[in-house]
Amino acid sequence: MTSRQEPSSVRAREGRVCREEDCHTRLSIYNDGPFCSVHEPMSTPRTRGRKIA
Ligand SMILES: [Zn+2]
Repeated sequence: MTSRQEPSSVRAREGRVCREEDCHTRLSIYNDGPFCSVHEPMSTPRTRGRKIA
């Protein structure tokens, strides 16, 4: 009987969360940075619901 989860190294990548203390957003495995898309320093120049023409 093996009710244990597989100790795959992939889990380390999926278990990451944003480094922001107040943010608990899970980082996508495609996210290369330590922050989520919201707190990423070099995020896209597009603000919330606003579009810079
Ligand atoms: Zn965040």
